[in-house]
Formats: sequence, C-alpha cells, structure tokens
Amino acid sequence: MIKIKEFIFNPIQVNTYVLYAENNECIIVDPGCYTDAEYLKLYGFIEENNLKPVEIVITHFHFDHVMGCAQVSKKYNLTVSGHADYKLLFKHMDVKMQAQLFDFDFEMPPLPERELKHDDEIILGNNVIKVIHVPGHSPCGIALYVKEDKLLLTGDILFEGSIGRTDLYLGDMSLLVTGIQKKLLCLDDDTKVYSGHGYTTTIGKEKRTNPFF
Ligand SMILES: [Zn+2]
Ligand SMILES: [Zn+2]
Repeated sequence: MIKIKEFIFNPIQVNTYVLYAENNECIIVDPGCYTDAEYLKLYGFIEENNLKPVEIVITHFHFDHVMGCAQVSKKYNLTVSGHADYKLLFKHMDVKMQAQLFDFDFEMPPLPERELKHDDEIILGNNVIKVIHVPGHSPCGIALYVKEDKLLLTGDILFEGSIGRTDLYLGDMSLLVTGIQKKLLCLDDDTKVYSGHGYTTTIGKEKRTNPFF
C-alpha cells in the first residue's frame, strides 16, 4: 500500500506529493519548494516519518513543478525521472527561459537521469506505479497510477473541474482531451485524483461534472 502526503508550495501553489511505502521508501513528486520554510516542511515530514527518499519524479517540466528539484536532489542524493519528451519542450523553452519569462529565480533542476515512457513502471517498496503519458498541456506530461490503491497523480493534465491550459509551448487541446478520455477516464470511478494544483477529486466525479468531457 502506498500512502500519500500533499504539500502546497511556491507562489504558483503547486501540489508537491510524497508517496511512501511500507518499507519507508518514498518518492518525491514535483518538489516545488521555493522558500526556506517550504524546504523545512518537506524535510521535516520526511524525517518525522523516518522516510528514505529514493527518487524524484517530475510530472512535467514546467518551472513551477521543479523549483525545489535541485536542492532536494542534492539534500538526499536523488536522481530525477521524467518523460523523455522534456527535450521537445526544452527545444522551445527550457526551465531557465520559463523562469525568466515569469520572473522567478531558483537553481535549475538536474536533467532527468531516467527517461520515462508510457507504460513504464516505477517500483516503490512492494508497489508498482504506472506511468501514463498524456501530452497536450506539455509534451512531457505524465500521470502516475497506483492500481492497488486506486491513486492517480495527474500533474497539470487533469484538475478538479478543469484540465491543464494548452496555450503554452507545444500545448494541444485535442491531444489533451482525447488523451484524458482514452487513458484516464477509463479508470475506476472511485480512483482518487491528486492534481498538480487545486483540490483532490475522483475519476467518477470528473466524468460526471467536468465541462471538458
Ligand atoms: Zn504545467
Ligand atoms: Zn503547474
């Protein structure tokens, strides 16, 4: 069984998640820490619960989701994993350019050492986390799915009552909508959805009430 802890970090209010297993290993998803207090909150939780971070996973390489990546990876000596198509995004706009555009200053994240693709599996303790690639908000957008626990992390792909914006670099509305329909809305209605911003929801609720579907 995987447990999940949510934090809301940085002025863009990104949801950072810690997923942790029975053996206390954890992965940190989208470390968006920006202030010292935010780093301390994350580190405090990890220490209080005796967790052992093993990997950083990035749902997509927009600057708000990687603001704390460099420092957190150094603190725990972690490699970064993310979808290989971050390279397409970076050809147009890497994280440094994004940060400059939005006027933020933070240490640039390390490049992913492990390049994920659709259907890959991330192992955490006895648990399997499936990688689901859904481009359209960004070329490298992935959702993370834990079938056993009916947990789905969607980054900026799917939100409560909305979907990710598609007016950014390499955004594609029809790709995003069809990707969500084909790959996410087919999951069980009681699958809990943890988004990159905003509130937790379920697949069933989004099927019934999300105006994009
Ligand atoms: Zn984004
Ligand atoms: Zn975001």
